[in-house]
Amino acid sequence: MLFDCHTHLFGPGQFGGATLAAAKKAWGSDKELLATPEMHREAFESLDGAVVLAFDAPATGLNVPNEYVAEYVSRFQGKFFGFASVDPNRENAPLLLEEAIKEYQLCGLKLGPIYQNFYPNDRQHFSLYAKAEELNLPIMWHQGTSFVPEGYLDASRPAALDPIAREFPKLKMIIAHMGHPWVDECISVVRKNPSMYMDVSALASRPWQFYNALISAVEYGVTDKILFGSDYPFFTPDQMIEAMRNINRFTEGTSLPRVPEEVIEAIIHRNTIELLELK
Ligand SMILES: [Zn+2]
Repeated sequence: MLFDCHTHLFGPGQFGGATLAAAKKAWGSDKELLATPEMHREAFESLDGAVVLAFDAPATGLNVPNEYVAEYVSRFQGKFFGFASVDPNRENAPLLLEEAIKEYQLCGLKLGPIYQNFYPNDRQHFSLYAKAEELNLPIMWHQGTSFVPEGYLDASRPAALDPIAREFPKLKMIIAHMGHPWVDECISVVRKNPSMYMDVSALASRPWQFYNALISAVEYGVTDKILFGSDYPFFTPDQMIEAMRNINRFTEGTSLPRVPEEVIEAIIHRNTIELLELK
């Protein structure tokens, strides 16, 4: 099984505002970022499947509608699984989530406090998490840093999810990018909460951090809770697989510990559909 738990669609104008401005600066490119359904389909031709994320983050200019994702994934049932996104700052967010799920047959929720500008452990948002639990929807959290100046960095620490995990022990939650740069904090939250997972998506950007993240996960004994993901279009699954299989190059000629090959292969071949009970 080769399944990517973290991929995006970005239609024309959907990756905009403050995020696009910051991306242009960070990447030194003036181009619009695009990942259309057609591009996505082609990139995932040879994979068994992927989660495709909507993104409702007006605070930072991201707007990938639930309907847009649903229209695409509905053409590939059993292969692509769409996650809805609802900005928790919207009035009636739980109701909006329920409507999106029922109308569009999406099967998860995407949240990103540093893009949506909300504090996850603020109890006013707990009704949204309760709704996700009631509908058996895993929540994919971007709970880590970002380069967007307008985003709430102080809302994006992995430990902010611990009160939610304790209140909703059955709610499945995934911390994207192993909570970078707070990788060890992410590992501690995931280790103590049975329904929490983390993904490796985009960690190929920083190979030294990636190597240390995997070593730390081995030492804490939590590698079975690491899911494979790319963060397409920022990386392709092939680029992530190559980065993982090359991770031990840092150890050559040193006494640094190696990430066991069987751990790397187990992550790459993780059966996320079964773990998250995606339907
Ligand atoms: Zn992402």
